[in-house]
Amino acid sequence: MLLFTPGPTPVPESVRLAMAEPTLHHRTPEFEAIFKETRTLLFELFATDEVVMLASTGTGAMEAAVTNLCRHTLLNINSGKFGERFGKIAQAHGLNSVEIKHAWDTPASVEEVVDAVKTDTSIDAVAIQISESAGGLRHPVEAIAKAVKEVRSEVMVIADGITAVGVERIDVSHIDCLIAGSQKALMLPPGLAILGLSHAAVEKIGSGKGYYFNLASEIKKQQQNTTAYTAATTLVIGLGAVLKQIKEDGGLGKLYCDTARRAKATRFALEALGLHSYPQMPARSMTTIDDADAAQIRDLLKTDFGVNVAGGQDHLKGKIFRINQMGLIAPYEMVWVVNAVELALAKLGRRDFDGTASRVFNEEFFKSTLKKEEK
Ligand SMILES: *Cc1c(COP(=O)(O)O)cnc(C)c1O
Repeated sequence: MLLFTPGPTPVPESVRLAMAEPTLHHRTPEFEAIFKETRTLLFELFATDEVVMLASTGTGAMEAAVTNLCRHTLLNINSGKFGERFGKIAQAHGLNSVEIKHAWDTPASVEEVVDAVKTDTSIDAVAIQISESAGGLRHPVEAIAKAVKEVRSEVMVIADGITAVGVERIDVSHIDCLIAGSQKALMLPPGLAILGLSHAAVEKIGSGKGYYFNLASEIKKQQQNTTAYTAATTLVIGLGAVLKQIKEDGGLGKLYCDTARRAKATRFALEALGLHSYPQMPARSMTTIDDADAAQIRDLLKTDFGVNVAGGQDHLKGKIFRINQMGLIAPYEMVWVVNAVELALAKLGRRDFDGTASRVFNEEFFKSTLKKEEK
């Protein structure tokens, strides 16, 4: 079975093998050396002033960001389940929460966010997804962050990059907190979350908030290559192995470029079948199709063609399917996936099979490589 859900994503073999080594004690020079190496690689990936790893899923890092960086009112952008979650976290901690809500296919605009932070000066943090996984939507986070800082530089910008860090280069110039999780673009089992922080964020954190998710205690320890509580040793080892594997495969630039090309080629291939891409601004992390037969297509992909893709949640249950683009994915696998979608449509009597999807994918994906080699 090919795992093509936008999280969890497949774990590369080299990484699985690295994690199969006997367990290390976390308070040892051996593990501290691994922690240090992984931390150094993370600084390259995040390009932020500070990084912190937490033994939790992505939601733990979202909670840590909100509790440590918001003192009064959180503005959250809700264009899907994950954006909504930021508001719920704020409320659970007794913070005020203000929400900008859109349909799941609609990105936030720079103007509405700027208006909100101008109008309500109690807002001291803005939380938004870079890639909102509920509908495969890309928000213009970098532009929003820049504009927010222009009007109120003290407002903390929290960017959930759980399906964006490792997918594309993110300009962190105006972002205070960038969040990643292990089981999406970082190709690891679930259980590790990472926060990249700006100097301003570290300053605002001060002595931190809460206990387990107190970022001040973690920053202090992790600067010494250890953790406040037991480190998720196996996952940290796996993360180091993933980041080294990415380097071996040509580096972050190549990963970002391949991902962008693959996502575009997949979308073109499926649109050539007459399918419709759901989000107004598609994220590169996944290809999201809305279709009346979404549930049947997804079932056929699994039962007849050995491909596991994700469906939708809440009101989009049975109405969309989502194909992962995150990680080191071989192009031939994606050719198989788009071909399987075409075969499923033929089985449903929607169109005659003529190999359109794989032809369009191949043209779009490989055309750009040939162009590059000519230069
Ligand atoms: C998966 C996901 C989360 C939640 O992460 P968990 O690891 O399930 O806690 C948050 N935000 C986005 C954008 C996600 O894709």
